Formats: sequence, C-alpha cells, structure tokens
Amino acid sequence: MKNNKSVTTQKEIDALGRVVIPYRYREQLGIDKNTTVDLVLNNDNIEIKPRKRACSLCKGFKNVNETVGLCEECIRMVKELDINQ
Ligand SMILES: [Zn+2]
Repeated sequence: MKNNKSVTTQKEIDALGRVVIPYRYREQLGIDKNTTVDLVLNNDNIEIKPRKRACSLCKGFKNVNETVGLCEECIRMVKELDINQ
C-alpha cells in the first residue's frame, strides 16, 4: 500500500478453497476481473501479488506504461518509426 499502512480484513475460505478479495483492496491495487495474481506461499502466510501488465509488443514487464500498454523501449521504437515515415 502506498502509505505503508497495513489493513486486515477477515474472510472465510469457501468449500472450493476460494476467498473474495475486498473491493477496496482490488480498487487500490488496480486488480480487476482478469488480472493475473501470483500466490506466494511463505512460512505461515500467503501473499497475493497482482502481476504487472506485460508490454503488448515485447511481452516484457519492465517499465510498462499502463495507459498505452507498452514498455518504454517499445514506445521509443514506435516513435522512431513514426518519425521516419
Ligand atoms: Zn515492449
């Protein structure tokens, strides 16, 4: 979380092992319907980490601009292509 405060909410796991992530958590982290998350098993807890969006061109995760869905390197390449036409 941005302000480094932790928030705790109790949830029950259903019969199939599912748990609902509270709306305000999803909203804060930009998690929506098809977001892929990593479930990380630590010693006695499970972390749920949203996957960063991959670049639409190179599929990399580094420096991806969420608005355009491209990494900075691919944005630079596309801009150079536009200039050279
Ligand atoms: Zn890229």
